[in-house]
Amino acid sequence: MSAAAEALVKDDGYYGNYGGSFIPEILVPAFAEIKEYFEAIKQDEAFWQEYCSLLADYSGRPTPLTYADRLTEYFGRAKIYIKREDLNHTGAHKLNNALGQVLLAKKMGKTRVIAETGAGQHGVATATAAAKLGLSATIYMGREDMERQYSNVFWMKRLGAEVIAVDYGSRTLKDAINEALRDWVSSFETTHYVLGTASGAHPFPAIVSYFQAVIGIEAKEQILRVEGRLPSWVYACVGGGSNALGVFQAFYPHENVGLVGVEAGGQGKGSGRHAARIAYGEGKAGVAQGFKTLFLQNNDGQMNDTYSLAAGLDYVGVSPILADLSERGRVRFTAATDTEVVEALEIIMKTEGLIPALESTHAFAGAFNDITESSGSDIFIINMSGRGDKDIFNVAEGLHDDEWKAFIRRKARQFENSAR
Ligand SMILES: *Cc1c(COP(=O)(O)O)cnc(C)c1O
Repeated sequence: MSAAAEALVKDDGYYGNYGGSFIPEILVPAFAEIKEYFEAIKQDEAFWQEYCSLLADYSGRPTPLTYADRLTEYFGRAKIYIKREDLNHTGAHKLNNALGQVLLAKKMGKTRVIAETGAGQHGVATATAAAKLGLSATIYMGREDMERQYSNVFWMKRLGAEVIAVDYGSRTLKDAINEALRDWVSSFETTHYVLGTASGAHPFPAIVSYFQAVIGIEAKEQILRVEGRLPSWVYACVGGGSNALGVFQAFYPHENVGLVGVEAGGQGKGSGRHAARIAYGEGKAGVAQGFKTLFLQNNDGQMNDTYSLAAGLDYVGVSPILADLSERGRVRFTAATDTEVVEALEIIMKTEGLIPALESTHAFAGAFNDITESSGSDIFIINMSGRGDKDIFNVAEGLHDDEWKAFIRRKARQFENSAR
């Protein structure tokens, strides 16, 4: 791995005021083992070769950096490039991390992986990597989330994973995290916990950023090859922070490259219906889920409900690495509202023939909001973290497509009739 990718990854587990490891005593040996093996694989040429060949020959890397000529023309200024993480197998950047961690699990001699998933994409990526590498997988998911993202549940099961519905609390991600931890406490001798984003207790933010760093390493090489210079701005959407850190790391040492994280503005500032922890200034430092970061919480430290049209962005905390980079002024944070995202999606589809995931569309919407103030010679790179055609239910809903709703009703009637 290049020095650039290593620049952000610390080993004391703290990034300024954020990060650390607040874990139950019983999991201390599990974390110690992960830290030991993570340090070892960084020096292990054979591990790296296997990981890189999986990325290349299985997932389809390197992903292209596409010049968006029609989008560039549409705005009439700057030059827009799109990093195509949508072209990874399973349709998003998540597989970079899942393959890396399942391979790490195998190196540690584990036979089973567990994961929690909110929207389901991380569950699908983990189930995929486990199938490919021959480990068994158990995925925890809140009952409420399963209802909302049933197509992902379908694929996880087909890929051979056991999906366990979590039926208490709000029946969403935070309850699934609790259940996955409960499993791990009694299973860590055989089982690795594949965390899906650059958050959680140390060393998970470091591990996930490390496996995602390939995005920025490729993008930097690609832009230098075609433009002979670095971009002015790099945009990425921020849920937990993994695709953003993935693309930012390689550019981090270059102070003249602006890094912009775009959060889920949902229904806007002050609506109480969003997940903009940093951009709206509402996140407060606290310790939860094993680490310290900015969480959307009330004055008593109760976590607030979050909301976004993009299920993968409505996380209550944020990567401790990004919380620190924001505090140090290295990454600027902004938010895109649902309305702005739906508008941006229509522009991208019609000018470029691309269908970004609703999560990724936030990065585009953030860039579109800023581009009118940019100069003609600016270069924008927008990280398209995933593809949206797999989100057809959410996208059709987001676009309020009546013909789609009528189609679903007809399908439901067909099923009912054939069941009689
Ligand atoms: C999960 C997901 C995200 C959000 O997660 P990060 O860890 O912040 O990257 C963004 N885009 C897509 C397509 C996703 O699947």
